[in-house]
Formats: sequence, structure tokens, C-alpha cells
Amino acid sequence: MLVVMRKDATADQIAGVVRAIEARGYKAHAIPGAQRTAIGITGNKGAVEAPAFESLPGVLEVIAVSHAYKLVSREVKAEDTIVDIGGVRIGGDALVLAAGPCAVESLEQTLTVARRVKAAGAHLLRGGAYKPRTSPYSFQGLGLEGLKMLAAAREETGLPVVTEALDLESLDLVEEWADCIQIGARNMQNFTLLRRAGRAKKPVLLKRGMSATLEELLMSAEYILAEGNYQVILCERGVRTFSDFSRNTLDLAIVPAVKAITHLPIVVDPSHGTGRRDKVAALSRAGAAVGADGLLIEVHHDPDRALSDGPQSLTPAAFEDLVADLRQIAPVLGRKL
Ligand code: PEP
Ligand code: MN
Repeated sequence: MLVVMRKDATADQIAGVVRAIEARGYKAHAIPGAQRTAIGITGNKGAVEAPAFESLPGVLEVIAVSHAYKLVSREVKAEDTIVDIGGVRIGGDALVLAAGPCAVESLEQTLTVARRVKAAGAHLLRGGAYKPRTSPYSFQGLGLEGLKMLAAAREETGLPVVTEALDLESLDLVEEWADCIQIGARNMQNFTLLRRAGRAKKPVLLKRGMSATLEELLMSAEYILAEGNYQVILCERGVRTFSDFSRNTLDLAIVPAVKAITHLPIVVDPSHGTGRRDKVAALSRAGAAVGADGLLIEVHHDPDRALSDGPQSLTPAAFEDLVADLRQIAPVLGRKL
């Protein structure tokens, strides 16, 4: 249910509706827009009685939201959401580049890659301190030590840090040390973790599960918003298909579909989307062309010796070439880079 306020509704009238919603034991989400404020209602077990709200001062109409997601939808908020990661804004007219190694391996490796991607024009540093690996014998990440290395790289380069939280324990630490909490593909439907991310004070980068539909992705985002954290970025990182020439199939068609339904920004990850270094630049250009708000790209200074995802990691030089291409493409798309 969505309570739409009149254009001239006062702050007192909005507060009155919020109180009326809360008095029934529901949660109110007042979302200001350029035209009007809409107040989403969540936490109701059964149907919400619309007439109780229709007669309150300042209310224009009460509309039933037909989807299982509400707060993420453009019905609730028509304008694009801009997510602020340590001063870097995603969802506006900029094309935002997040780059860095798959995994944090050492301070030296993190600093080396961070310096190179910063010099090439990246806006954010990515890198996993907690790694969800298919084999329990693969490198699992440096944990808290890795988070401290990322913080040191931020200190030196000024790049805000995006890094994955695997579980409730690591989420506490990622929230404390990083600028954006990544929820990985394997955890897209870990609803306990999503709820915790919804109570975090930092923005969340939510990756699409490897066999998740668009609607499932949006409902996972809804979990985060429903807890009160509206700073969510979606990420297309490829899905599993029969196609065997790439690690995953990058589903770029989801980008315009997402843009039509939700106000949340979406970035494209061509590294996991292809799994192959030689395809990353082409799919990065395609991601920008299809309307992504940013790109998440794995870069390693010595990819053949990387502890995770070396085959899909660009060298710093290849990343520089890619950024040069993107700088030419961005203005055509109305994007700043
Ligand atoms: C990653 O970004 O390194 C990662 C593990 O991604 P995904 O969850 O998309 O596999
Ligand atoms: Mn990776």
C-alpha cells in the first residue's frame, strides 16, 4: 500500500500520516520526490484498510501496489535514486568505475593495484577480504586484515572501498571498515543477511544471483529497503546458461528492464559476467552503452599469479586502455567520465 501525499502537503501532514501508519503497528517509509511525497507501508500481515488513510489531511490517494516489491518501484519514487559511496555518486549522469582485485592478497598487492586503477581514472576500489569460494581449499580471503589493507589503500588513494560481506559477522566488520557493503551472487537470497544490510549505515551493492530472475533480484533489494536502508545499487554479473564459451552469460537486457521498473541504480560486472579477460573490455563498453550507471571490473597487476579470478582480471594497462575507450563513449551516452 502506498499513501500518495498532495503536492502541497505540509511536513506536519506527512508526519501525521506516518504516525497513523505506525499506530497500527506498520512501518512507514516516507519517500520525498520532486513532485510529491509517497509513503510506503510495510510490515502489515494482512490487507491495509485504505479508507483509514484516505481521509487524513494532505493525502491525495491511497493505492494498492500490486507487486511483491514496493519501495524499490518507480510507483513509490519516480526519480532515479542516487547512491553516495563515500562522496562518489552512482545513479546520476556519471559513469562510475569500481576497479580492483578479486581478492585482497597483501598490502603490497592492494596498494599496487589501487594506485594503478586510481591513476587510470577509477572512482572506487573493489576487492574481497571475505571470499565465497566454490572449493573450501581455495583461498578464502584475509578477513579483517584484508579490510585494514583496503582502508590503507583508501587512505593513500582517496578511493572509497566496496567489499563483500559473507555473513552477519563479516557484515559488522565490513560496515565498520568499508564504504559500501557488497552482497554477493551466492548470498542474494540470504534473507537474514539482507535484513542486516538493511539496518546498516552504509550503502549496499547487491549482486544478482546466478540463476535469479529480475523479480527475485528486486525482491531481495526490497528486503534491504524495507529495513530502512534506501542506498542500494543493483549489479548484473551474469547468469548460468547452456552457453559454454564464457563463465556466465552477461544478461545486459536486464539493465533497461531494471531502469523501467525501479529507481535504484544498476552497475554491470563484465569480469564475472564473462570470466575471460579477453572479453571484459567489449562487455564493459556494451554495459555502458545499454545504460549501466557504472562498471565493476577486476584488475590485478600479476593476474597469472592472482589467488582468485586471475583468468578474468585485466592488467592495469588493459584497464587504462578500456577507460580511454569509455571516455570516448560516455559523452555519446550523455554520461560524464
Ligand atoms: C566478486 O565480486 O568477487 C564476487 C565473488 O562476485 P559474485 O558474487 O558476483 O560471484
Ligand atoms: Mn571475483
